[in-house]
Amino acid sequence: MALCSGERKVNHLQCNGTLYQCECGATGCKQKYDDDCSAQGFDVKGKCFKCGAVGKYTSISSVTTDHAPRKTPSFL
Ligand SMILES: [Zn+2]
Ligand SMILES: [Zn+2]
Repeated sequence: MALCSGERKVNHLQCNGTLYQCECGATGCKQKYDDDCSAQGFDVKGKCFKCGAVGKYTSISSVTTDHAPRKTPSFL
């Protein structure tokens, strides 16, 4: 599971945001404001900082979701 290892500008803590990969190969997190994280790759509209494509990214953090706890219905 990959999480953003960049540093948040506001509090200088590790970002831990969801990482996305653009079709151009650039990776980074998506932030509400420009330059919010030192490893930010996309702005709030999903525009790639590197190539400028909008919405051409896929999440690379949520690849392994099989480990999520599965709820068992109580009536079973
Ligand atoms: Zn980040
Ligand atoms: Zn790109």
